Amino acid sequence: MSRKPIIVGNWKMNKLNSEAEEFMHGVEAHLTGEEKADYGIAAPFTCVATCVKNAKHLIVAAENCNEKDSGAFTGEVSVPMLEEIGITYCIIGHSERRTYYNETNAACAAKAKRLFAANITPILCIGETEAEYDAGKTADVIKEELTGSLEGLSADEVSRMVIAYEPIWAIGTGKSADQTIAENCCKLVRDTVCALYDAPTAEAVRIQYGGSVKPTNIAEYMACPDIDGALIGGASLKVDSFLEIIDATK
Ligand code: 13P
Repeated sequence: MSRKPIIVGNWKMNKLNSEAEEFMHGVEAHLTGEEKADYGIAAPFTCVATCVKNAKHLIVAAENCNEKDSGAFTGEVSVPMLEEIGITYCIIGHSERRTYYNETNAACAAKAKRLFAANITPILCIGETEAEYDAGKTADVIKEELTGSLEGLSADEVSRMVIAYEPIWAIGTGKSADQTIAENCCKLVRDTVCALYDAPTAEAVRIQYGGSVKPTNIAEYMACPDIDGALIGGASLKVDSFLEIIDATK
């Protein structure tokens, strides 16, 4: 089965609306919609609407959501709110949210379920810390995070989602995982999905690598059989560098 590559920039807590608009214009001017990969950006809540308004070919994702539809949850944003403005993808379980805001595997599972009900595709992030990597626990972490975060999801749902393997030691450090580690871990993600579901689901799910991806190393990852794209932080903030990534992959 051929999986369409998906490359998404994650802006994290960066960009004002004016900057988001400028970025969208700058990148859209170079896209035709005929590219062989999907390209997108995940933006802070304050500028997702601006991004949707200016998107022609780019996917616009949110960086988080709450699993409840409404209520007394000060500071949270619900899936219906994202649906209303035309969001089609949403990151869940990013390591920064797991680390700083205590986002659990169970919360990821609930968010994914709610997103699918709104026809929004979850981008589920998983990955081990440097200490876990050094202790040889990478495979255990991948299996545990996947098992917990996919709990209650159907094979059909999982086959349509995106899973981003992002080793925490590679995020924002400039120390990207080498091609072999990235491929082996993404293959382990696929094998785990196969064990939890079945082979067709594992064949269909799109798996990204994330962690210090740049214009100069993206092609290495895209050449790997089990890597279907990338989730990119720092190198997605500037139009020029995001366009270089697009050029290296389209
Ligand atoms: P960097 O590309 O800046 O390492 O960030 C990766 C990431 O966290 C994307 O979600």
